[in-house]
Amino acid sequence: MVSKSKKDFIPHIELEKAPPCNVAGCVEPGGYKAPKSRDTLGEYQWFCLEHIRQYNSQWDYFAGRGADEIEEFVKESVTGHRPTWSRESRIRDQYHKLQDVLYEFLSGTQTRERGAPPNMNGKMRRAMATMDIEYPYTEQSLKAQYRTLVKKFHPDVNKGDKKAEERFKQISTAYTLLSEYLKSS
Ligand SMILES: [Zn+2]
Repeated sequence: MVSKSKKDFIPHIELEKAPPCNVAGCVEPGGYKAPKSRDTLGEYQWFCLEHIRQYNSQWDYFAGRGADEIEEFVKESVTGHRPTWSRESRIRDQYHKLQDVLYEFLSGTQTRERGAPPNMNGKMRRAMATMDIEYPYTEQSLKAQYRTLVKKFHPDVNKGDKKAEERFKQISTAYTLLSEYLKSS
């Protein structure tokens, strides 16, 4: 479902000098850049032509939708503490979260290609991206990965770090979801 964009795709950097494409498992040179994260404005990730197209078509998908619909999607994807925002910072925050979600969405697509069941929903695929784990996983590998992440993001070791706290919540939610999935299948 990669639709052809009207935009011309001109590499931002010579392909011989380009870093590898940012999508896991892709070996193409990443000559095309896309904004990276909510923390570092002006920092980019690099994609090959196929994946920048995919990335952009995800953007187009959201561009055609209302703010409510996008917010609903983000709300469903992002768990944890939501501060009261001023309108402007709210929009900015939403935009950055959306980028993260889209990025995870892309990673998820890649995971599915590597063997996740085709009927696995977006929530599950995002949970796998959050846990940085691939399908098929086992109870043991899931637990081991959970312990590793907990050591890194537990509030006790990141005193007062809101981002670590939010990540910790996301990890816990993802862990529960993935664990339940194993039991039900
Ligand atoms: Zn690629």
